[in-house]
Amino acid sequence: MPALHDSLYCLLYTSKLALGQDASCVRDITAHSRANNERDGITGILVFDGACFAQWLEGPLPVLEGLLGRLRRDGRHAQLRVQHHAALEGSRLFPEWRMAYALRDGEDREIARFRSLYGRAAVSEFALLLKGVERETA
Ligand code: FAD
Repeated sequence: MPALHDSLYCLLYTSKLALGQDASCVRDITAHSRANNERDGITGILVFDGACFAQWLEGPLPVLEGLLGRLRRDGRHAQLRVQHHAALEGSRLFPEWRMAYALRDGEDREIARFRSLYGRAAVSEFALLLKGVERETA
């Protein structure tokens, strides 16, 4: 596993649950991700609101880019949008890998609302989203 203090980058993306996929796939994703991320020195948080994913990832650039490539090929989600990707200022925001659920019924789709934002504006909206979600550590 790379040292936790190697030059760090962060990545924020959103995506949509693919058509035909059941929300139950999220359990498989988080279980497998935790093992991979520990191996690769990646930490972060994944939020799922029943329709969309938002994931903040932080780690050394080469492994983050490798993961982004795998994410782009993963058929369980679609329309992946990278909304922020930059050198991390300071230390990791999520030194432990976390899964945060924000399951809601009906129209209140929180993540879709900031899919058109990029850079710091997207990060700010993501931070607000995290205040309101029920957390669960995977
Ligand atoms: P493999 O050994 O090839 O796959 C491992 C297992 O993953 C497979 O046995 C299968 O059960 C499942 N799987 C992989 N791809 C698919 C697919 N297209 N459809 C159905 N099942 C599949 N991976 C991480 O490592 N870290 C993350 O933080 C992370 N976050 C994710 C967030 C979301 C929203 C999604 C959709 C996926 C995420 N993934 C994450 C999974 C990632 O896209 C790759 O599937 C995974 O990294 C591949 O792992 P592997 O190299 O061990 O592949």
